[in-house]
Amino acid sequence: MPEAPKESVAENNKKKLEFIEDITSNPDHIQKQVLSEILSRNAHVEYLSRHGLNGHTDRETFKKTMPVVSYEDILPDINRIALGDTSPILCSHPISEFLTSSGTSAGERKMMPTIEEELVRRSLLYSLLMPVMSQFVQGLDKGKGMYFLFIKCETKTPGGLPARPVLTSYYKSSHFKDRPYDPYTNYTSPNEAILCPDSYQSMYSQMLCGLCQRTEVLRVGAVFASGFIRAIRFLENHWSILCHDIRTGTLNPLITDPPLREAVMRILKPDPETAGLVELECGKGSWQGIITRLWPNTKYVDVIVTGTMSQYIPTLDNYSNGLPLVCTMYASSECYFGVNLNPLCTPSDVSYTLIPTMAYFEFLPLHTSNDDNELLDLVNVKQGQDYELVVTTYAGLYRYRVGDVLRVAGFKNKAPQFNFICRKNVVLSIDSDKTDEVELQTAVQAAAGHLEPFGASLAEYTSYADTSGIPGHYVLYWELIHSGAIPIPPSVFEDCCLTMEESLSSVYRQNRAYEAIGPLEIRIVEGGTFDKLMDYAISLGASINQYKTPRCVKFAPIVDLLNSRLASSSFSPKCPKYAAV
Ligand code: AMP
Repeated sequence: MPEAPKESVAENNKKKLEFIEDITSNPDHIQKQVLSEILSRNAHVEYLSRHGLNGHTDRETFKKTMPVVSYEDILPDINRIALGDTSPILCSHPISEFLTSSGTSAGERKMMPTIEEELVRRSLLYSLLMPVMSQFVQGLDKGKGMYFLFIKCETKTPGGLPARPVLTSYYKSSHFKDRPYDPYTNYTSPNEAILCPDSYQSMYSQMLCGLCQRTEVLRVGAVFASGFIRAIRFLENHWSILCHDIRTGTLNPLITDPPLREAVMRILKPDPETAGLVELECGKGSWQGIITRLWPNTKYVDVIVTGTMSQYIPTLDNYSNGLPLVCTMYASSECYFGVNLNPLCTPSDVSYTLIPTMAYFEFLPLHTSNDDNELLDLVNVKQGQDYELVVTTYAGLYRYRVGDVLRVAGFKNKAPQFNFICRKNVVLSIDSDKTDEVELQTAVQAAAGHLEPFGASLAEYTSYADTSGIPGHYVLYWELIHSGAIPIPPSVFEDCCLTMEESLSSVYRQNRAYEAIGPLEIRIVEGGTFDKLMDYAISLGASINQYKTPRCVKFAPIVDLLNSRLASSSFSPKCPKYAAV
């Protein structure tokens, strides 16, 4: 790694915290400047001209002239860029690549255009995280972080631009790869392990290096909770061969990537003592507190557990013996949004302060009684209200609906802080998949076709994200109308499972291929179960007139009720088809 920066850690922390003070004291002014800068440098792009903005850079004209849009509205423009049109369609700066979002459109990942300089903004947001953390936990510069970070496959658009997830883009950029030595980005995983495209070799090496440096580890994590849990599950399945490598100082031949082997061999030394200890702890059969047992100096677990990831909190609490679960940031392919300024708070209290220099933010009020659907500026949102986030970015998105619902939790100086409430419409999620009601319905419909030859049809269905096992999986509860004249062989339900999976989005299928999601399960319930479900909902106060079967259930008594009336259960017999996109 290049030379250490001259500035001391304390000085750098102070500067970053002052930056946060500054921007949160003056967010409206900054937002005005950001919008004006975006609009003036893009004054001549086709999209803004098409809508008649005519070079205006002020908020009022912008809001009057430009429509609020969704992905589908800009898809024709995105497609032109993807096909190789390099004229300034959305942005005056050249589009450097597409970031493939976990949000999907017609089952395929959305492709967000980006420009080179956005990497600088992303790096800036990352650079705020440890100075914030260091206010609450001392001495984090005296050891390492064990973070399980991965790249995913990438493709090229027909016009030759790379299309890959935002983190893959970031880890492959010089901002990450060639970062100067910094005690806060000193990880147990060598870059070669993070950048290895083979997920098994990458995970194996990262776990091995994490174990070898166990006493130096002060914090552990991954991006999302599901990823970290997957790493611990990997340890459960591989500790024995990992210990062999640690004991002998030799690397398993399954690790074939030459630069990766070289990087791991720089860390791996014969260490029978560590091997013995890891063997002892893993051999106990209980995984409770495994993090503190193997990495005894760990102060916290750094993973996102807000939004649907909250379903993993009990598992993480168990693995970590209740260490703090820290959610540091809120970001997306469209734009990096904000940071958590109170990182040791409990997961349910996490709020993110949007950084006003990142983009121009607007807020579409939700659940308001009046018809006033005007978008509000950052400083005009109201405490306790829910909003959908709308962004205008340096990379050429204008008044773009991100699809996230945020609630104002409070203010840091004049800048609002938001709880992440949910992704709009998403009913099921295990990892980065986000299945909405329509996708679920389409998949169920396709699968239920297999029942017709048996004189059977679907009376009702609902779904459940079962995260009690690792990896988690989708469970569908089906109640059938079936005379029974022609019995339905169990293989038919397996076909139904696979057909559903084939119909779900490419993000779902990719996660299945990476074993981040387990096989989909269909549980057939006895006749009358959904009536009982309705009775139960009504007993809790639901209106009988307005009752609709929920297409996804989470409430434990309802799940218990469904499970108590099980007739059979079937799993998808194989992985659905997935072509790398
Ligand atoms: P992607 O575009 O695939 O990077 O996904 C971005 C989306 O992930 C966001 O729009 C959110 O829905 C979700 N997300 C990102 N950060 C967080 C967070 N800290 N808490 C909850 N959800 C998040």
